[in-house]
Amino acid sequence: VSPALPELLTPDGMRRLLPRRPGNANKGSVGRVLVVGGQAIYTGAPTLTALAAARSGAGLVTVAYPAGSAVQPPLEAIRKPLQDWSGEGLQGAKAEAVAVGMGTGPEGVAAARAALELGLPTLVDADALQVEVIDAYLQARLPTVITPHPGEAGRLLGRSAAEVAQQPLESAALLARRFPGAAVVLKGGPTVMALSPVPDSAPVLAVNTTGNAAMASGGMGDVLSGIIAAYLAAGLEPWDAARLGVYLHGLSGDLIGKVGMLAHEVAEGLPEAVWRLSK
Ligand code: AMP
Ligand code: MG
Repeated sequence: VSPALPELLTPDGMRRLLPRRPGNANKGSVGRVLVVGGQAIYTGAPTLTALAAARSGAGLVTVAYPAGSAVQPPLEAIRKPLQDWSGEGLQGAKAEAVAVGMGTGPEGVAAARAALELGLPTLVDADALQVEVIDAYLQARLPTVITPHPGEAGRLLGRSAAEVAQQPLESAALLARRFPGAAVVLKGGPTVMALSPVPDSAPVLAVNTTGNAAMASGGMGDVLSGIIAAYLAAGLEPWDAARLGVYLHGLSGDLIGKVGMLAHEVAEGLPEAVWRLSK
């Protein structure tokens, strides 16, 4: 693969993608997000995703998680404890976009298959990042964003995490070709993005210009998932939601910019990051 020259994300380019909020907006009109995840030891992941979605302007956030797990959704979120991943429990969830996979452990595939039945634009992350899951979403022609870190990307490509991290643009382009139609976000420092709009098309590429090494800590990726899901729910195309979300996530991290900052603080800083970008 010899990728074309990548787009460097700029403030002007990203500002143009920010959704406008009309004066008569209500919580049902600006994008509602369903977060599907949470199990065993990763009970914080869906909570961080939900928080970030709400801090990105989602009108309503619902968190679906296995009944009995210790997930504690944010105060503002709707809770949906599920008896199993059959999919029935998810029907009726009021949402325009889904984020799936955060802290589902080995249940990630079942959770993603249940979420698929909602037929909504979906962000697939973490434990749901399996070849069969992504193929199923693309076969169903659902708008899809995938957000692997190098380890998850390596799993999808049959390579090591180190190989992916050494060649991020090539790896993102390979993922885009393998999953045509999916917006690929390969996380790292910097995060790179790729999209092959149709099978066998040369991928378009983008490289983020925000973010810093203080963001190398637990939960940061879950926050990114919530941001991108909120913009999918607001009606952005996967490629636009992915680029804007990645840019704002890094910008919020840069506004704090201190080693030891926490993922939930990056989420809390999102309104300020959006406000600065909008000026
Ligand atoms: P995850 O591994 O899923 O928690 O995702 C980590 C998040 O933090 C991704 O959005 C990365 O891009 C970001 N991140 C981690 N390390 C760095 C770094 N050195 N520079 C910029 N962003 C980083
Ligand atoms: Mg992660």
